[in-house]
Amino acid sequence: MLSPSKQIPLIALLTTVVLIGAIPCRETALIDSYPLEFSGSNAFSYLEEYMELSPIIPGSQASLQFHAYVTHHLKKFSWEVELQNWMHQGTNQTLHNLIAKKHASDSISKEILILGAHYDTRLLADRDPDPSNHQSPVPGANDGGSGVVVLLELARVLDFSQDLEIWLVFFDAEDQGGIRGWDGGIQGWCIGSTYFVGQLSPLEQQRILVAIIIDLVGDFNLILKKERNSDPTYVQEIWQAAAKLGYSDCFVDDIGSSIIDDHIPFLEAGIPAVDIIQQKSRDGYPFFQWHHTINDTIENVSSESLEKVGRTLEYYIEHDLSHVSSIPTTQTASETETQLPSFPRESLTLLTLSVIMIYIFIQIKSKKPG
Ligand SMILES: [Zn+2]
Repeated sequence: MLSPSKQIPLIALLTTVVLIGAIPCRETALIDSYPLEFSGSNAFSYLEEYMELSPIIPGSQASLQFHAYVTHHLKKFSWEVELQNWMHQGTNQTLHNLIAKKHASDSISKEILILGAHYDTRLLADRDPDPSNHQSPVPGANDGGSGVVVLLELARVLDFSQDLEIWLVFFDAEDQGGIRGWDGGIQGWCIGSTYFVGQLSPLEQQRILVAIIIDLVGDFNLILKKERNSDPTYVQEIWQAAAKLGYSDCFVDDIGSSIIDDHIPFLEAGIPAVDIIQQKSRDGYPFFQWHHTINDTIENVSSESLEKVGRTLEYYIEHDLSHVSSIPTTQTASETETQLPSFPRESLTLLTLSVIMIYIFIQIKSKKPG
């Protein structure tokens, strides 16, 4: 057995090891106690309903049916819904953005968070490998549907304080660029979001904290690089939220390319905006394998991918932006984050004593002649 002078440092070392091991990782403990409700399977069931209406070409009957469907869903969860209509000259059609608001107010100081997705599907599948499909419409399960259903499930689960106003905006005519009659917007793309931003009052523009756009988030092997035009501060915060949830495999810490999407009209108006979009698939296809083909169908959309994106936004909005939390304590979320979780003192003492006892017992046994 060791001499008492050697035992003391050894026991101290053992105690330290036990104490360090007993303190759980701060972020893990925080996430474990944070109840996230966003369900990928719920989002996927909304996608099945969206696909019953698809294709949703701007100005079509399906577009009107989509408004009725979304309005019914959003009202169930106490969102105020309004339809923004305008005449598009190029095609002589009435187009529509659908806007849902919660905690709406005229207060100058109240910040607005915008979550946006385009709901239209592309008229022509002009990237289909088979040229005979180029005149067919894109079903749009990923390109249209995925962003929409993430918003619909967020509408169900989001809890946020009265200090924040949220707008869910479903944009029309994002995806018709390069097709005859579809001019305006940004080279024919993003017509709905361009109109929407043009209608904001100067006060509303000032009150918008950030616009977060969600598009093409349903791929099975989802990879989301940081879109190059997006506001770097908000991008960093959202990607950090994803990392806390263990989704760094999907929200990768890498800068991607510049994309024309519904965030651009906001950025051009000086409003911070982020585009959460797959820019290239893991196997090298631009955007995703079925982009602008007739195979952009529900079989090629993953409910797990929808859940990762939805939960990241749920956590980011409730925990980082709103400071209202469903954490079942009296503390606010921000206070919780700066504190180490408490570990029962009694358990620590008991654990330490047990280790010391075992150590002494082994030493006594090893001293006895065999
Ligand atoms: Zn598209």
